[in-house]
Amino acid sequence: MTPENGRGVPTLVGIPFDGQSSYLRGAGEAPPKIREALHSDASNNWTELGVDVKSGGSIDDAGDLTFAERDAFEAIETAIGNLLDQGHRPFSLGGDHSVTFPIVKAVAARYRDLTIFHFDAHPDLYDEFEGNRLSHACPFARIMEAGLARRLVQVGIRTATRHQREQAKKFGVEMVEMRGLPAYEKLKAAGAVYISFDMDVLDPAYAPGVSHREPGGITTREAIAHLHAIEGQIVGADLVEYNPVRDLDGMTATVAAKIVKEILGKMIMP
Ligand code: MN
Ligand code: MN
Repeated sequence: MTPENGRGVPTLVGIPFDGQSSYLRGAGEAPPKIREALHSDASNNWTELGVDVKSGGSIDDAGDLTFAERDAFEAIETAIGNLLDQGHRPFSLGGDHSVTFPIVKAVAARYRDLTIFHFDAHPDLYDEFEGNRLSHACPFARIMEAGLARRLVQVGIRTATRHQREQAKKFGVEMVEMRGLPAYEKLKAAGAVYISFDMDVLDPAYAPGVSHREPGGITTREAIAHLHAIEGQIVGADLVEYNPVRDLDGMTATVAAKIVKEILGKMIMP
């Protein structure tokens, strides 16, 4: 495994991009809201597994990406690649889920045999969505057809269409549907692990601040239990699809920050 043997400093990086969101904008406003909740004095810095995520130098923050005139996907891939090459482990705060494709491109270029643990109500495996192959409904089709991951394990799925089931079969995706949970045993990997956490995997009762509210989802407790069950070397992560425009009194930001904290703790743990 390279670089730094997957032990670089976990580093937050905001990706204020919702240009591939099919239904609603707003996820691009998420990064500062998640940071605000993460740094709020309402809670301390310790994870449930006993890690102080803010003890000297344990995490870093690279700020938010800016896109200006540049192609957003190219900018994301370059920025994540640079962080990895500087010995960081990027933790991206999205953004709509389309950003995971350029992120994973950069990660897979540096880690072979990547395992992706993907938490989502949706498989995001459409070959194209409304004529768009880069939609936030498509990133895992792009990732799998490019051979960027050895394993893709999806957790919490509850919206699979016939087409997406066929795509899952074609790409050998390990899709664990909502009714098949818990799935702790599926979350063990040998080697490099990437976590992609779409906030709509949570039931809208826990996380109303998303563009696509899909009832019948997991509780915050179940999400944490699954994250704690992960075995493998976490080399990067993203949390996507938090939409502040749809949030109620910042509740979903608080939940997002809790999820971020528990994943950071897993990254830091020896
Ligand atoms: Mn998604
Ligand atoms: Mn989703």
